[in-house]
Amino acid sequence: MRRIALALGSNMGDSAEILQGAIDDLAAVDGIEITAVSAVFETEPVGGPEQKAYLNAVAIGGTLLDDVSLLAATQQIEQGWHRVREVRWGPRTLDVDILAIDDEIIATEDLVVPHPRAHERGFVLVPWLDVDPDAVIAGRGRVGQLVAAVDVTGVRKTSVVLAVPDHGGAQ
Ligand code: ATP
Ligand code: MG
Ligand code: MG
Repeated sequence: MRRIALALGSNMGDSAEILQGAIDDLAAVDGIEITAVSAVFETEPVGGPEQKAYLNAVAIGGTLLDDVSLLAATQQIEQGWHRVREVRWGPRTLDVDILAIDDEIIATEDLVVPHPRAHERGFVLVPWLDVDPDAVIAGRGRVGQLVAAVDVTGVRKTSVVLAVPDHGGAQ
């Protein structure tokens, strides 16, 4: 099973509920397992139009899926939460990004891993470090070191706790 790190974000609707729903949906996919979820952080939007604060979290797990199927699964879950793509970096009910798959470097038209902007985003690095203090971004370095170089003033830990779903199914 390949180890995966996924970034989740929401700033429309009941974001805490949507993040939990997305975690549950991910864990329910045949071939995806979720083993740990970070604290939930409230973060100031970066880029895009004026919009409300986000809730962000990072989930760690494993997958038996190939890259294309993993991306398709995350996109299907986004769509299940009525994700609409209107403005780039605009408000959304749910964004699920693939941060890392083991220490692989992937650069296809539809999938770039490690996520090409993860290393410069406080709203990704802070929750990632929270759930995995030893995390490394292939080709970039340790998350714990990268976070020191980014602006994290807009990233605040909340009291929202996401549950790690029971490991269902016979895998
Ligand atoms: P950003 O990528 O800057 O966080 P975003 O998450 O808002 O922006 P999306 O609209 O969710 O962008 O995705 C745009 C496209 O990015 C997707 O159609 C997908 O093919 C592509 N993509 C490339 N690499 C990744 C990745 N590592 N995780 C998720 N999507 C990716
Ligand atoms: Mg994104
Ligand atoms: Mg995305």
